[in-house]
Amino acid sequence: MRRGSSMQDALAFVQEEIDELKRQGLFRLPRVLEGEQRARAVFDGRTVVNLSSNNYLGLATHPKLREAAKKAIDELGVGSGAVRTIAGTMQLHAELERKLAEFKKTEAALVFQSGFTANAGTVSCLLGREDVIISDQLNHASIIDGARLSRAEIKVFPHRDVDAMRKLLEESRGARRVLVITDGVFSMDGDIAPLPDIVRVAKEYGAITMVDDAHASGVLGANGRGTVDHFGLHGQVDIQVGTLSKAIGCLGGYVAGGRALIEYLLQRGRPILFSTSHPPAVTAVAIAAIDILLNEPELIERLWENARFFKKGLQDLGFNTGISETPITPVIVGDGPLAMKLSDRLFEEGVFAQGIAYPTVPVGAARVRTIVTAEHTKDDLSFALDVFGKVGRELGII
Ligand SMILES: *Cc1c(COP(=O)(O)O)cnc(C)c1O
Repeated sequence: MRRGSSMQDALAFVQEEIDELKRQGLFRLPRVLEGEQRARAVFDGRTVVNLSSNNYLGLATHPKLREAAKKAIDELGVGSGAVRTIAGTMQLHAELERKLAEFKKTEAALVFQSGFTANAGTVSCLLGREDVIISDQLNHASIIDGARLSRAEIKVFPHRDVDAMRKLLEESRGARRVLVITDGVFSMDGDIAPLPDIVRVAKEYGAITMVDDAHASGVLGANGRGTVDHFGLHGQVDIQVGTLSKAIGCLGGYVAGGRALIEYLLQRGRPILFSTSHPPAVTAVAIAAIDILLNEPELIERLWENARFFKKGLQDLGFNTGISETPITPVIVGDGPLAMKLSDRLFEEGVFAQGIAYPTVPVGAARVRTIVTAEHTKDDLSFALDVFGKVGRELGII
């Protein structure tokens, strides 16, 4: 057949890939949320206890944040109209960045469209062909993509293995620049990076240090300042990335660090130069959310109380919850289709916990992932534990 004679033929592999996923029981379409993102919510027409959001503090529906968004729309409209470096830097963006820098105890901060673009844009901006990026095996996809875009050599160390990391630093002595990068909290296992050791060893070799605190923002450290605060490492980590999309309740990412770093990213960070900045409402919500972290720390207390209660409940039932130390608790079952089956049966019984399989987690480490929030009541969580027990026994997992 002539090439290009039919669009459909050239894309036939897409359908074949889908069929293969279906055959393996791994094909998924997203469940659709009707109404608000809450601890009990309606997905696909069913009211469920929601253990799948990143809305750690319940801020996605907080009254003060709704008000902040409405006020910003009334006063400033709905769009920024340009990229940051042309005409899209509003006073509100500057205010948020001042607030974030103060919150993170750094000289400066820069807001990106998302945590994804903050990571990918920063890593690809700072490193080049002559450089080496030393990265934890389980780092987030946005770090991996940024590393690939940079064209630097990428060296991966086994998860949390600082000795292996040191060996990679040792063999990278000839490189122009070396970046050591880790997630602060790992999104699939809920464990925390050994940041003090990573920073100590990286400094011995003069490497740049960067931590992605997407799941630690609003969760770990005083008032949710993140892993650097949690470990008392202020001033010792060169680059901190945070997200405004998870505990902060709206959308966005940011880099916090020295003033020169931020000014350089404003010159060369590609998402800053080539993608439009946040609308006023999103920016105003983020500002108001930082105030809530500062003024209502009891939300974070409640999050952790719920996390401890739920994690212990799952463990008492006999589930394998891996090495979690945070409100992210995986229930690891190994087999991909079994994880999807578990997730589906939980859903039928009124609990939404997303099934996650390869390539998001390694083959053989499939799981359902649970994330509790400050908004869950003890009733919500006890109900969810009862359902986990029932379905877990039914599927022979416990
Ligand atoms: C969610 C996540 C991101 C991306 O953040 P968004 O603001 O949703 O783009 C980056 N890194 C990690 C570790 C994450 O979990």
